[in-house]
Amino acid sequence: MNDCDICGRPTGTVYVVGIEGAMMNLCASCARGKKPVRIIEERQERAGQYQKQAREEEPEIVADYGRRIRSARENMGLSAKVLAEKISEKESTLTRVERGEMLPPETLRKKLEKELGIRLTEQGVAGGGGQRNGGDRPVTLGDAAVMKKDRK
Ligand SMILES: [Zn+2]
Repeated sequence: MNDCDICGRPTGTVYVVGIEGAMMNLCASCARGKKPVRIIEERQERAGQYQKQAREEEPEIVADYGRRIRSARENMGLSAKVLAEKISEKESTLTRVERGEMLPPETLRKKLEKELGIRLTEQGVAGGGGQRNGGDRPVTLGDAAVMKKDRK
């Protein structure tokens, strides 16, 4: 258990939020309305195994996701508006994601990956280190298919 840095109550899931330059560990209610940098779930404390499984289920989104989305979109000659329409999202949402102001939710991330043929998550958690190349290589459709097969 950790204690919330604002209200001092013990909290299972810790929301790490940057407030005025300092990182604070908050409980769910104090973190409400803020944008957590990181969420540490309680189950991580119970057993290392859980932690590993959670990581595989929820791949981490790459730090430069916005740049990847924008450059893939521009390479395809699509405006943000057209792309947003293709994936049935608001243009404003897409723009915020491209600017890195908002992490794409899983559904949006998958739509973008499919539509643009890119990969927005870190690889190498599950695959066992065959190919690590910093992630700058453009992802081909073949890669996407392999990835799908791996994940099931
Ligand atoms: Zn609190």
